[in-house]
Amino acid sequence: MNDNKKIAYFSAEIGLSSDIPTYSGGLGVLAGDHIKASADNGLNMVAITLLYKEGYFKQEIDDQGLQKEFYPSFDYDKHFELIPKQVSIKLRGRNILINVYKYIYFGEKKHSIPIYFLDTNIAENHEDDQKITLRLYSGDSDHRVLQESILGIGGIRLLEELGHTNIHKYHMNEGHCSFLTLELLRKYNNDEQLVKEKCHFTTHTPVPAGHDQFQISNCQKILGDLLPSDLNLESLKNDNILHMTELGLNFSSSANGVSELHGNVAQKQFPNYNINFITNGVHHISWLGDDFKSLFDNKLSGWRQNPDLLSDLNTIEDTELTNAHQLQKEKLLKEINSNISNKFSSEILTIGFARRSAEYKRARLIFYDIDKLIDASNSQIQIVFSGKAHPNDLGGKEIIKDIYKTSKNLKNKISICFLENYNMRLGKLITSGVDVWLNTPLRPNEASGTSGMKAALNGIPNFSILDGWWAEACIDGSNGWSIGSPDYCNDKADSDSLYKRLKNEIIPLYYDNKKNWCQIMRSSINTSVDYTAHRMIQDYIKKYYK
Ligand SMILES: *Cc1c(COP(=O)(O)O)cnc(C)c1O
Repeated sequence: MNDNKKIAYFSAEIGLSSDIPTYSGGLGVLAGDHIKASADNGLNMVAITLLYKEGYFKQEIDDQGLQKEFYPSFDYDKHFELIPKQVSIKLRGRNILINVYKYIYFGEKKHSIPIYFLDTNIAENHEDDQKITLRLYSGDSDHRVLQESILGIGGIRLLEELGHTNIHKYHMNEGHCSFLTLELLRKYNNDEQLVKEKCHFTTHTPVPAGHDQFQISNCQKILGDLLPSDLNLESLKNDNILHMTELGLNFSSSANGVSELHGNVAQKQFPNYNINFITNGVHHISWLGDDFKSLFDNKLSGWRQNPDLLSDLNTIEDTELTNAHQLQKEKLLKEINSNISNKFSSEILTIGFARRSAEYKRARLIFYDIDKLIDASNSQIQIVFSGKAHPNDLGGKEIIKDIYKTSKNLKNKISICFLENYNMRLGKLITSGVDVWLNTPLRPNEASGTSGMKAALNGIPNFSILDGWWAEACIDGSNGWSIGSPDYCNDKADSDSLYKRLKNEIIPLYYDNKKNWCQIMRSSINTSVDYTAHRMIQDYIKKYYK
């Protein structure tokens, strides 16, 4: 396929399924989809990540809307095999042993990709070191340096130990992996040019919280000799800060953002490096709901291996399409109705909003002017929310609380449900079961927005700010709708646009013109063909894995 050139894919989080909770959101789910589509396409790839035995947290929300976090350990033994290899690394002056668990992902044609999960939770290690890999995105910044050292440096040592000496490209999925470049420099006797030729970097967000920056003095204390003293980075020279994105970019020959718009934003963010783009995509087999899957299995044989077949739906009747959608909607409503007293009806236009609860995603925008929302909705919509806030993100937790409060206040006007513990299972249920997918980020902060692609794939039109993928995919009024103006972005203007289009276009179309609604569903699926991980991987092969 790819001349069998071997790719080593590094990511701090990988989301494969909801019973392996080693991911927090879009970044991890995308990494999982990247690996799955690579396997479908027969790529010669190995993937490296950390084993968080207590994963990312499990969310519960009390009746006041307060998020509570729980850390049950998951059944890693059931999914992974402990391999008889260990590597070690010296951090904080202590030697740390790293255990390695293997998971094998099999693609559509049974091509396999091994994923190695690194684990320091071993009795031989110092008590403090045992906890390094225990939880995802936990602890202070020193803890992150420790985790990222295990991932980057430990990961390269593991590849050596396993005999993967002929890696063609090391693909860093975000700056969490950038320490791998330091180990490669040692491996290649400080031949910077050679290291650069072997490295590719993907940046996933313009939001500062997504770019780790560490005091260099702390890194020196933790890494000791493992940190070269002559790194030539702007942030180091100017502020004594080790900026992990800059480190990764500095030792890569190529780099990309994850949509056209984000590529441009990232280029401005890091003007000293050349940043291009490949728009993200989703693994179509994983994200299509079961009823659409059976429909396509009957009518579009071959669609699993070749998702381009989804661009011609002429053999499928409107009723077949709407029946499949309605069945998927009922599965979602069953889950919703087991959670709330204010029951959802399968006849009512259902709007979905589910993503990490972060300020820039503006989950509360639809509640900006309650009177206008009530007027626009005219008792004809119901809304389902879901999403976790990072345990330290008080603003994100406040958003969840506000949604709870508002849904209580609106009880007699609009049914609103917040489903606890957003994960891949719920993500699939919601993105395959609502009628309209809402996304209202503060542009240009939504780098891609893969949940919208999952919805489109399931024939669910997007109703979204022109940010991330939607800025390039939206054919307004045909495959969904835009919110706001492409020229400016603020809460007042955007919410007004939202209410207006909901009232004048979306609600009337849904209830009074089923034929045209069905046409929009078809266009959504048509659009999604360009936003599959299958297409994304072809792009990586052509541009960066060559
Ligand atoms: C797809 C997915 C995401 C990413 O959604 P965005 O649109 O990028 O916010 C996050 N979490 C889960 C569980 C997902 O399935």
